Amino acid sequence: MVTFVVEHLDPELGPWSALEYKTIARESSEAGCDFILSSVPTSLLQSKELNDVGASARSDAVEVYFAHQKDRICLLDPAAKQELQPSDTQHFDVLLFGGILGDDPPRDRTSELRKKGFAGRRLGPVQMTTDTAVRVTRKVMLEGKKLEEIPYIDFPELKFAEHESTEMPFRYVTDTEGNPIMPEGMIELIKADADKGFDTLDF
Ligand code: SAM
Repeated sequence: MVTFVVEHLDPELGPWSALEYKTIARESSEAGCDFILSSVPTSLLQSKELNDVGASARSDAVEVYFAHQKDRICLLDPAAKQELQPSDTQHFDVLLFGGILGDDPPRDRTSELRKKGFAGRRLGPVQMTTDTAVRVTRKVMLEGKKLEEIPYIDFPELKFAEHESTEMPFRYVTDTEGNPIMPEGMIELIKADADKGFDTLDF
């Protein structure tokens, strides 16, 4: 069975990341896979936010925790030359992701993990949120789906009111109605951030 690992690369655990990790933890458990949050600052390990996430959190970095099977670790990397495919189940048991908030344009913070020398695979040319990258990887590695067989939406616009919307600079997997699959509570969080943004603009 494959293990999903997100290496947390931010000093704090913001609400956005917590929602993503909670979704990854729930979906991994439903799929019968282990999910480990690695490199968590010890100050966070006992925090309520982290406990609410429901992940198996470790302060160790992934290469310490999986020292005995480093060659079986695959870094999902937007800059990798090779796309992930179902046959990669023969090569990898540990699927590693950067616990990094997406940014636009991407600043390639995944490079912090790339330099650790893991094999890399890409999930197509468009930046995904961490939970989307895990969702796509699970479909390829556990359901045998090819990347091009998975339904996506790129840069969806979230409409909050008649004159209020936000375009998300990411690729998402879509549900049966064609809507982007997002963590529970994420749209409300994005709306609250957008409202804060509008407020600070002193309309
Ligand atoms: N702006 C960040 C960067 O450029 O590294 C992107 C971080 S992304 C929001 C979080 C993680 O999801 C990445 O570190 C990577 O593990 C995975 N990921 C996102 N999009 C990907 C893609 N197109 N191919 C492979 N992995 C991807």
